[in-house]
Amino acid sequence: MSRSLSGLGVSPGIAIGEPVVHEVRPISTLRITIPADDVEAEIERFRNAVKTAVEGIQENRDRAAQQMGEEYAAIFEAHQLIASDPSFTQPVEQVIREEEVNAGWAIDQVLEQLISKFEALPDEYLADRKADVVDVATQILAALHGLDLGQLEDLDRPVILVADDLPPSTAVQLPLDKMLGFALEMGGPTSHTTIIARSLGIPVIVGAHGACEQAKRSRRLALDASEGKIIFDPNPAEFSEYTSRQREYKERQASLFKMRALPTVTRDGRSIGLLANIDLPAEVEHALEWNVGGIGLYRSEFLYMKMSPKLPSEEEHIEVYRDMVSQMAPAPVTIRTFDLGGRKLAREVIGGPEANPVLGLRGIRLCFSQPDFFRTQLRALLRVAGEFDEGRVQIMFPLISCIEEFRVARLVAREINEEIRTEGHAIHANVPLGAMVEVPSAAVMAQELAREVDFMSIGTNDLIQYSLAVDRSNDLVADLYRPTSPAVLRLVANVIDAGKSEGVAVSMCGEMASDPLMVPVLVGLGLEKFSMNPQAIPVVRALVRQLSFREAAAIARQALKLITAREVEEYLLERLAFLLAKTKISV
Ligand code: PEP
Ligand code: MG
Repeated sequence: MSRSLSGLGVSPGIAIGEPVVHEVRPISTLRITIPADDVEAEIERFRNAVKTAVEGIQENRDRAAQQMGEEYAAIFEAHQLIASDPSFTQPVEQVIREEEVNAGWAIDQVLEQLISKFEALPDEYLADRKADVVDVATQILAALHGLDLGQLEDLDRPVILVADDLPPSTAVQLPLDKMLGFALEMGGPTSHTTIIARSLGIPVIVGAHGACEQAKRSRRLALDASEGKIIFDPNPAEFSEYTSRQREYKERQASLFKMRALPTVTRDGRSIGLLANIDLPAEVEHALEWNVGGIGLYRSEFLYMKMSPKLPSEEEHIEVYRDMVSQMAPAPVTIRTFDLGGRKLAREVIGGPEANPVLGLRGIRLCFSQPDFFRTQLRALLRVAGEFDEGRVQIMFPLISCIEEFRVARLVAREINEEIRTEGHAIHANVPLGAMVEVPSAAVMAQELAREVDFMSIGTNDLIQYSLAVDRSNDLVADLYRPTSPAVLRLVANVIDAGKSEGVAVSMCGEMASDPLMVPVLVGLGLEKFSMNPQAIPVVRALVRQLSFREAAAIARQALKLITAREVEEYLLERLAFLLAKTKISV
C-alpha cells in the first residue's frame, strides 16, 4: 500500500526516484507504529543500518591503525563484534516484529535493558563496557538516520533528497546535478535553498512533516511540487500517472523554451528588461540559454559558502567575477557584496551564534564589522569593473536600512577605487553603486535614498519578511508570508515612484518579480526591470507580451485601493485568469 504526504510545492516540477534521507536534528527516539505489512522491510532497514555501521567502524579502525598503531585498533574490533552480536541484534528484531514499531525505538528499548544489566555487574571493567555498547548503538541509529553530508557529497546516482532541514550552506555542498528533487520538512517559498533549487529546475516541497521517517522505509518516491504531494512507494497505477505528468511538464517547458528569442514588450510597446538572479556561477549558462538581458543579482555570498571555512582571496574573487562578466558580454552584471549572516551562516566570519540572527549582524552590517573581508571583496569588484567597459559591473549593497549606511559603503568604495588606481590598476571613476531596498525603513525613505544611489533593487524576499514579521524560512508561518499584502504593495509602489521622480533605475530581484500573479501589477506600477531565476523567465516573458501597459496601470490602481491581502489576491487571480485565457501558457 502506498502512503502519501502533503506539503507546500515551492519549486515546480515532478521527480520520481530513490530517496536518500539527511537529518540534522537530534536522533529521535519516538515510538512509531509500523503497519504489519512493513515490519519485514523495517527489519531489513535495521540489518542494513547494522551493516553500514560495521563498515563505518572498519573505516575508523583502519584509520586509527594507520595513524596510531595496530594496538589502538582493537577497540574498534570489539565494537564490530558488539554491532553484529546476536544477543543485541535478535532482541531488536524481536521488538520490531512483536510490537510493530520502528527500528530506532526498538534499539532504544534493547539498549536500556543492556545498560541496566551492565550496571548491575560487580566488575568495574565490565560495567564500563556499557560505554562501548552505547557508542555502537549510536552509530547504528545514525546509519538508520540517513546519510551525512560527507556521504551526500560523494553520491554517484540521481536521488530525491529528503531532509528535515537543508540550510543553503549545506545545499551548496551537494552534487546538485544528482538531485532529482527535495522533500523538506522545514523551509519556505523564499528560503535560499528553495531559490537555488528553483533556478536549477529542481522540484521542491517544503513543510512535509514526517517525510524523513516515511522515506527511510521507502524504496521509491514520486514528488509532484505543483500539487505539493509526495507518494512513498507508488503503486503501478500511481507510478504511470506521475510518469505521464512528468512527461507533460517537460513538454511544456520545452515549448516555453522555444519562445526565448521573442522580445519582452507589452502589446502597446513598453519594453521590459528581464534579468537573471544567479547564486552559483554555474547558473550563468542557464541564464544565457534563456536569453536574459544581464544579471540583476549575483548573490556572491554563495562563493563564500562553497569555500567556507576559508575566505576567498582577492584573486579568487576576481577570477569568478571576471568569468561571469565576460560570459555575459555585452550585458551588465550586478554583483551584490556578501549578504552573510541570518540563515546564510557566517560563523567563521562573525565568530559566534546570535540569538536572533535575521535581525542581527547580517548583510552590510556584517561587512562593516569585518572591514578586511569587505575591503577584499570591494577591491576585487572594482578591479574587475576597471577591466571592462564602464557600466558592465554594478555593485550593490545588501540590507541597507538607512541612508548613512549607503553613504559609508560608498565612501569605502571610493577610497578603495583610489587606492587601486594608485597601485596602477585600470579603474572607472563612477562604477554604479546601488542599494538593495529590502528593509521597510529603506522603502519608506526611498525618495531620499534615490538621491544618493545610482540604482535601487527591491528585495521583496526580505521586504516581506521584515514588514510582515514573518520568517521567510519557517514553514509554520508560511501562510502568513503574503506577497499580496497591501502594506507590501504600497512599499513597493513607493520605491518605484521614488526611482521615477529622481530618475534612478529601479529593478526588483526578489521572488515577487517572477510571480505570475504579481507581474501585471508590477508592470502597471511602472517597474521596468525584473530579475529572477532564469527558469522563470519564459513564463514572465509570455505574460508581459499579453499585457498592455494601459491595462496593467489600471490593474495597479485598483490593487492599491484594496486593503486586505485576500482581496488583492482574489483580484489579481481573476485578472491573471483573464490574461492566461488569451495565452497557451499555464503557470
Ligand atoms: C531579497 O531579499 O528579495 C533578495 C533578493 O535577497 P536574498 O533573497 O538573497 O535575501
Ligand atoms: Mg535579501
